[in-house]
Amino acid sequence: MGMTIESFKERLKEGILDGKLLSTFLRAEIKQKVEALTQQPHLAAIIIGNDPASQMYVKYKQKACQQVRMTSSVEILSPEITSHELADYLDQLNQDKEINGILLQLPLPAHLKELDVLMGIDPSKDVDGLHFANVGKLHLGLSGFVPATPGGIMQMLKHSGTELKGQNVVVIGRSNLVGKPIARLLEIEHATVTQCHSRTQFLSEFTNKADILIAAAGKKHLITEVMVKSNSVIIDVGTNSVDGKLYGDVDFDQVKHKVKLISPVPGGVGPMTITMLLQNTLDAFNLQNV
Ligand code: NAP
Repeated sequence: MGMTIESFKERLKEGILDGKLLSTFLRAEIKQKVEALTQQPHLAAIIIGNDPASQMYVKYKQKACQQVRMTSSVEILSPEITSHELADYLDQLNQDKEINGILLQLPLPAHLKELDVLMGIDPSKDVDGLHFANVGKLHLGLSGFVPATPGGIMQMLKHSGTELKGQNVVVIGRSNLVGKPIARLLEIEHATVTQCHSRTQFLSEFTNKADILIAAAGKKHLITEVMVKSNSVIIDVGTNSVDGKLYGDVDFDQVKHKVKLISPVPGGVGPMTITMLLQNTLDAFNLQNV
């Protein structure tokens, strides 16, 4: 375990925020904690319909559960399921004492209203942090489940020793899953946060002033060399698949030499997201078994 964190620190010296190495380290820690429990935490995943991407994401998450000795199950429900039927199914999982975390893989079929459906998950099992009880807690600065991607970004910043207090942070994106929660988490740590989105005019005027830039727009190579501040820290959240290859929102090859630290795609935020889902499931187990 010591080896991986040392390798992570070596990569920092090269200017790379290596989410894969940090994940390996954190997952080993989680595994140790799980092995010390008398019972294994259980994550229940639900997929609605047969979207191949959703099936692939859930498979990664199940594999990660296995790695840290947690149990997981997956239920594939009909794409025609009604909101009532789904609410009943979620309620069964809510009542089931053997299940600690519930993960509803998004997106949902168009006839289901995402926010309404998510409210059917017991907030104490809402390991994706999307129930409004957990969203509200985050806004009030209270402890609750934080969505895995922003949670992972905070861990990356923390383990890289990046100062947040008083820093100018620019977040590109304002989704419920990434943009909004990461902006709140950074503000709680006393950063000065500016949130940009698709209607922002003159994006580079903001990004050029960013000591820390979080790019979560989902647009391949939106951020180029001229748009970043020298010696800044760049977290690239974007995963844009073009002709079977994965690209970030940041043009890594152009930007890398100019900045202090940058997270790569793949191998940056992606593995950290899954790691934080594991951490949230362990936290859920511990909170339910006090
Ligand atoms: P989303 O719901 O599509 O939100 C994208 C946000 O970016 C929106 O707020 C949008 O503005 C803004 N935006 C789009 N184009 C822009 C532009 N040209 N300039 C400035 N802002 C722009 O996506 P998301 O769920 O937040 O995810 C963002 C990206 O992160 C995607 O590539 C996704 O695949 C990736 N992601 C990766 C992980 C991981 O584990 N690595 C996890 C989650 C997401 P409006 O609000 O005005 O539309």
